[in-house]
Amino acid sequence: MGIANLFPVTPASGFLPDLIYTGEKFESNLALCTEHGIITRFSRDPADLARATRLPHQAIVPGFVNVHSHAFQRVIRGRTETRTSDRDTFWTWRVSMYHAANRVSPEAMFHVARMAFCEMALSGITTVGEFHYVHHAEGGRPYPDRNLLAKQILKAAEDIGIRIALLRTAYVRAGWNKAPDPGQSRFITPRAGDFIADTETLRAALPPRATVGVAPHSVRAVPLDYLRQVAAYAQSHHLPLHMHVSEQPAEVEAALGEYGLRPVELLHREGILDERFTAIHAIHITPQEAGYLGGSTVCACPTSERNLGDGAVPADLLYNAGAQICFGSDSNVQIDILEDARLLEYDLRMNQLQRVILSPSDDLSKRLFRSATASGAASLALNTGILAPGRRADFISVDLHDPSLAGADAGSLLDHLVFSLERTAIRNVWVDAEPIIRDGRHRLQDEIVQQFTAVQRSLW
Ligand SMILES: [Zn+2]
Repeated sequence: MGIANLFPVTPASGFLPDLIYTGEKFESNLALCTEHGIITRFSRDPADLARATRLPHQAIVPGFVNVHSHAFQRVIRGRTETRTSDRDTFWTWRVSMYHAANRVSPEAMFHVARMAFCEMALSGITTVGEFHYVHHAEGGRPYPDRNLLAKQILKAAEDIGIRIALLRTAYVRAGWNKAPDPGQSRFITPRAGDFIADTETLRAALPPRATVGVAPHSVRAVPLDYLRQVAAYAQSHHLPLHMHVSEQPAEVEAALGEYGLRPVELLHREGILDERFTAIHAIHITPQEAGYLGGSTVCACPTSERNLGDGAVPADLLYNAGAQICFGSDSNVQIDILEDARLLEYDLRMNQLQRVILSPSDDLSKRLFRSATASGAASLALNTGILAPGRRADFISVDLHDPSLAGADAGSLLDHLVFSLERTAIRNVWVDAEPIIRDGRHRLQDEIVQQFTAVQRSLW
């Protein structure tokens, strides 16, 4: 049953909280009016104010956009924090991750994704970009429906009510001069033509609130000729193009060995770095590479990156170059987009022994909040992320009496949100003006947790 059937909503609705974030500031005595899931206007008309649903001691802001997730990695949360070698790194973590990836059945994929998306919704995330690369059955045999696992992910998102951009991921090889890795067999589609045909098939039958983009996994995992074909396909269909870029030094060294160029230099030479392109991570880059990314978007994933020992995104270089920055929960070890936002700044503070670095003037919180919302929506080519007439009505309300926000006023609330918001403050979440979280709960939450717990018992 679709969520719309369980949450009947009149086509036209109005919402009247204490405060609404209208893009530059918080305003009071203002109603947010929507029709058929689209924001139509802000109104001070007494008739609109009288009709609107009152949301006492709450503030409305746009929902957060989580641009980069691997939902299935939720199963290894809490299972990779013991030492397995003399020197544990991203690469030893990856061995555990592959082990899990190879044991998740299609049914389990649905339950795991529902758990991840439910937690996202509870965290105020209204849109997820799911970078989806587990395509095939164990051993690499395609399912009779080659998009079976992608459809399980989409079904999970539909159950939660969250908006999803499924970023179908091309994965071809272990790496330059590397023998095939059996741990990657479920990811691999050897021919670009098949990858594009599978993507077209999926695009033809999408549920509501779902779109598709494409994601060559990385310069390491996709050879150049294949990458060119996928990039040309994305360009001709105006699809978002996402790619892991320079997450680890070894990836940079491999690209230098194969091409004599660093990953961003190669993508620049190939003419791939345009406004539809999002580089995931972009940690180990030179100032010159940051310049090449100036017309594109970078998705930083600081909560995941700190867990994996990846390093910190040089956000000061990237913002100065003109790049858009957005955020992703990546491995889903923790799901909190504003924690990602504050870490982007805090990593620089720790390294440079300064404060308020990502701010040319006084708008640090505005810049980070825009990254958590509007820049993410732009990366996924979606008409959301901003509360404005004509945009999708995806928004959340926070409880101004929550201890993490208590004492904030209209002038300081954005700083409170960006630097101090706890999930306990998130009361309601709407997508297309339909409530998917009410009073801090999802209607399926108990069942979802129960089913996920059963999956974990079978895996570990
Ligand atoms: Zn990733």
